[in-house]
Amino acid sequence: MFPLQPDFIRDRFPSVAARCAAHGVDITKELLPVVPAAHFSCGGVHADLHGRTNVRHLNAIGETACTGLHGANRLASTSLLECLTSAKFTAQADVKDIAGETFRLPQPQAWRSAANEVDPTLIRQDLQLLRSTMWNYAGIVRSPKRLTRARRILLELREEIQSFYRDYQVTQELIELRNAVQTALLVVHAASLNPVSKGCHYVVEKE
Ligand SMILES: Cc1cc2nc3c(=O)[nH]c(=O)nc-3n(C[C@H](O)[C@H](O)[C@H](O)COP(=O)(O)OP(=O)(O)OC[C@H]3O[C@@H](n4cnc5c(N)ncnc54)[C@H](O)[C@@H]3O)c2cc1C
Repeated sequence: MFPLQPDFIRDRFPSVAARCAAHGVDITKELLPVVPAAHFSCGGVHADLHGRTNVRHLNAIGETACTGLHGANRLASTSLLECLTSAKFTAQADVKDIAGETFRLPQPQAWRSAANEVDPTLIRQDLQLLRSTMWNYAGIVRSPKRLTRARRILLELREEIQSFYRDYQVTQELIELRNAVQTALLVVHAASLNPVSKGCHYVVEKE
């Protein structure tokens, strides 16, 4: 069952072996359950190779951006190279743009935040629901039925989160949750428009 020699396993995977040993599992003798995990983002904000998006003065580079460099999936070692090259090209393009423009800073009004804090349990629960919805319905295996269900759940969640945002003190957790549900809805929407199995997901007709 174990074609690899124990010494080879320990030398090749020292961190995994040590971590598992700390939990009482000897990986030279026992099988380890393996599950897929989110490793990186695919897609993102459409940008050209100079980091330009369709919003003026908004740049997107790195994992936030969809420059087309990766095709349908990120492959080993292309991500960091993309970060470096896009950062350089974007900085150069920005320097050129800034030199030719005059900027006027806006004068924002002082922020008035509500005094009462939202119950943190509600935020945690919403985040948990959002994560499990995305993992189960918009993860590796997708179907129209799952995506429709995800959209329904997310629309309801967004309503609730918007009401927190209106009525309670704005916190980092609340802003992140609000951004997360909006991003999730965009992912589900884009996934619904894509009938093709490509890159890192697989479309099944029905479940
Ligand atoms: C386990 C793993 C292994 C990988 N191995 C490789 C590899 O071998 N080769 C390769 O090319 N790529 C690899 N990648 C992918 C690569 O690391 C990423 O694509 C790359 O780091 C993305 O860089 P980024 O600057 O766009 O984003 P990030 O590195 O995610 O940087 C985003 C930064 O923004 C900060 N941030 C987030 N929200 C806020 C906020 N609201 N305010 C202020 N700051 C904020 C975060 O703390 C973070 O520091 C790997 C990724 C993972 C997870």
